[in-house]
Amino acid sequence: MKTDILGVGFDTLSPEEMVHTAASLIEAGGFHYAVTPNPEFLLAAQKNEAFRTVLNQADLSMPDGIGVVYASKILGRPLNGRVPGIDFADGLMAWMAQHGKRLFLLGSKPGIAEMASVNLRQRHPGLTVCGTHDGYFKEDAPVIQAVREAEPDVVLVCLGAPKQELWMAQNGPATGAKFMVGLGGALDVFAG
Ligand code: UDP
Repeated sequence: MKTDILGVGFDTLSPEEMVHTAASLIEAGGFHYAVTPNPEFLLAAQKNEAFRTVLNQADLSMPDGIGVVYASKILGRPLNGRVPGIDFADGLMAWMAQHGKRLFLLGSKPGIAEMASVNLRQRHPGLTVCGTHDGYFKEDAPVIQAVREAEPDVVLVCLGAPKQELWMAQNGPATGAKFMVGLGGALDVFAG
């Protein structure tokens, strides 16, 4: 059951429950994806039906911004609180490191994902980063193939919205990855 805020559905789960749910989806197999809408997403989704549809078809949707939580209170459908995508990713990577799962980093300018990889492996000892790719590609096919060959369980897709959400929904299943999450500028943050 999702809570509707301005036409976009959100899960009313705590950050820990979001990570648990993602872990279950990864273990279940098949392809799943998560979105992290903030107020700018909601505005864009009003005007962009394809974006709205892809947001609403996500397996997990977390309010990445206090503005979404305020809107939910004003609309009388309060969400539990905000779930920053970066915090979710951090919890998920901790779980991945403990369970031997493989991570692929997609997005940002050339070199950034590699720097993020170094920092993330330092922060989560045992985490396997099986591949990286920058976010400034012209064709999808070589990127899909690069992800396929790396055999990740999880891909952090950091291409900015709505590009990353449309990319995950359209190309995610063909990559063989089990779980993707759209995380905007997170790789820039992880790269430090
Ligand atoms: N980006 C990318 N490919 C593109 C456009 C953007 O990889 O074609 C990256 C950009 O380098 C940045 C991220 O996507 O790392 C978007 O960050 P931004 O802060 O704009 O997104 P937000 O977090 O606000 O969604």
